[in-house]
Parts: sequence; structure tokens; C-alpha cells
Amino acid sequence: MTNSIIQLDDVSFSYDHSLVLDKITLQVNEGEFWALIGPNGSGKSTLINIILGLLKPSRGKLELFGENIDTFKERERIGYVSQKSNSFNTGFPATVLEVVRSGLTRKKGLLKRFTDADRKRALDALQMVGMASFADQSIGELSGGQQQRVFIARALVGEPDLLIMDEPTVGIDQQNVASFYSMLNELNREHGIAIVLVTHEIDLVTDLATHVACLNRTVHFHGMQSDYKKMDDADISKWYGHPVRRVHSQTSEVE
Ligand code: ADP
Ligand code: MG
Repeated sequence: MTNSIIQLDDVSFSYDHSLVLDKITLQVNEGEFWALIGPNGSGKSTLINIILGLLKPSRGKLELFGENIDTFKERERIGYVSQKSNSFNTGFPATVLEVVRSGLTRKKGLLKRFTDADRKRALDALQMVGMASFADQSIGELSGGQQQRVFIARALVGEPDLLIMDEPTVGIDQQNVASFYSMLNELNREHGIAIVLVTHEIDLVTDLATHVACLNRTVHFHGMQSDYKKMDDADISKWYGHPVRRVHSQTSEVE
């Protein structure tokens, strides 16, 4: 049996009178890695905010881990990394370890002291994103890509079952983006963490994701990565609103 993590049923959303999401039905199950793609303004961030409980659907139903969003209490099961998190300037005083450990405060409450066990958990989370050797450095000294890995460790320190990221590679050097994505792939495969990743980088990410959802106010396609790859570029361009040409990976050319 597959366990549903996110179940959106006919969910619509409007800001004032403009309909931004129209009857979205989508299910994310345990262990899956979803790439959520779509042009600017297609409603991706709005949909994420609905899943996070920050916006309330105008209609439709949303369940998280099989529980209606209105009564869902296990927020710590969801780790979230926003678009704008990697903006620490040089000189910001916190160390990498402190930033990651701060991800535990929601669980512990602000006034509790951190224990050795907390330190160990923060180091484990840093290990998962390949940043353990940076633990004592100041966060401000790191590159954008390294900082973003630290924010993912911060989201992971509470041991979530689902990691949601909204365009996490904005501000990361192009040469580091591929290794960033393969790190996400490892988190998904080796640690079984379900991932929902909002991205523009269609080619890079659709090789790593197990599932793809194409959003532009409605869901134009959702399904397995292999089926997404079988679609014509012309069909994708139609819903994207401008020409899209996917670079096919070597593995898909060989078949
Ligand atoms: P994406 O993340 O795909 O770029 P968004 O979800 O941010 O898209 O936005 C979808 C649409 O909703 C856009 O047309 C945007 O202008 C509009 N929108 C986003 N946020 C707000 C807001 N707070 N108030 C009114 N309209 C908004
Ligand atoms: Mg957005």
C-alpha cells in the first residue's frame, strides 16, 4: 500500500477576484520525488503556500499524511526551504552548526538549552547534505550554494518525511546546480525523504525526479518522469505559453 503524503482534491484558489489555481488534483506518496514546473506566475508558490497551510484554498480539499489540513498537527513532518533563504551577508555572526540547530527550536521551544544530542543531530543533518566539515565556519563566509545546503540541513534536522523547496537553486552558480540536485536525489533515495521541488530547470531536474507535475493555473500533466519524457516538446510549449525545447539526456537517447 502506498501512503499518501499530500492529497489535493479539486483545490482552487483566488487572490481577490483573480483565479490563480483552478481545480488542482494531485497526490504525492511516500518516497516520491516530485518536480513541480511551470512558467513564472503559474501558481507554483501559491500552491506551496497552500500545502504549508499559509493560504487557505477557496474550494477543494487538502490532506497531509491522510489528515485534513484543518486538523493536521504534525508540522514537524514537513521541512521547508524557501526561495529567499540564502541571503546571509558576510559577517553574519552565526556558525553553520548554530543555523542548523536552530531548526530544532520549534520542537524544543525557544528557551530550552541545546544538548549534546542536539549537536549530534545537527551534525548528522550536515552530513546528509555534504557540509559536516563546515560546521564551525560562519554562515556568511559560505557561497550561495553552500548556504542553501545548510538551509536544507536546517530543514532536515527535525527529521521530516517531506521536504518542500521553492526554487532553491536561485542564486547558486550554474556549475554547482547539478551537484546540488544529485544531493537531493540521494536524500530521496537513501533516506526515503519525499521531495516536492519547484523549479525552472526542467532538464536538470526531470532526470532526478520520480514524478513531474506541470502547472499553469491548472495541472496540465502529472505523472511519472518516464511518461513526462515521452511527451512532445510542442505539447509542453503549448501549456508553458512559449517554446520549450528539452535537452534529452543520454540515457533517454540510447533506448
Ligand atoms: P509562481 O510561483 O509560479 O511564479 P505565484 O504563485 O507566485 O506563481 O503567482 C501566481 C499568480 O498570482 C501571479 O499572477 C501573481 O501575480 C499572483 N499573486 C501572487 N501572490 C499574490 C498576492 N499576494 N496577491 C495578489 N496576487 C498574487
Ligand atoms: Mg514562485
